[in-house]
Amino acid sequence: MQYDVDNIITIHWIKKCVLASEYLISKHAEDERKNDNLSLSDIESVLLNGDTIEHYSDTGRGPSCLVCGTVNHKPIHVVCGKNKHSWLIIITVYRPAWPKWNAPNRKEPVMEPYGDCIYCGGEVIERVQRVDYRLHGQLYILEGVPAGVCQQCGELFFTAEVARRMESVVAEATGPVETLPIPVIAVK
Ligand SMILES: [Zn+2]
Repeated sequence: MQYDVDNIITIHWIKKCVLASEYLISKHAEDERKNDNLSLSDIESVLLNGDTIEHYSDTGRGPSCLVCGTVNHKPIHVVCGKNKHSWLIIITVYRPAWPKWNAPNRKEPVMEPYGDCIYCGGEVIERVQRVDYRLHGQLYILEGVPAGVCQQCGELFFTAEVARRMESVVAEATGPVETLPIPVIAVK
């Protein structure tokens, strides 16, 4: 993989941005960190105590990199990008796990049915997760959905079979397993 050595994100720059609170965090990263029971200050501490372990080429949206750090002595990975205005973007957050990661810093090549992300060229791996699914203004939360998740930009990809299954379970949604009250709060 080729990348512009002058355009690599350094851990020094990431730390400077975090200390100045000059960063953006994607909705995907927010969702992922909450799923992993991580607070925003946990993510900041990973970036402040961690180091870059991989760099990804600029595929048109700016360079990105993978930072490995720890929270309560457990490894956490944070994918960071730098946009055209030189803002730090926290793209996604996850706990490195087998089979992809044999050790926090060591990746094991595995067969990937999803290939690379069509949007950013990032690696797409399968996870079973919750998916927000809106139809005719109604929000459904679908549990246990296998999806390919881009480790770089967070885009989700579904196989045709899974997409059809989601469409039919929502169309036939006679008995949800539970109904959650969803508070709507204005952010001022
Ligand atoms: Zn992507």
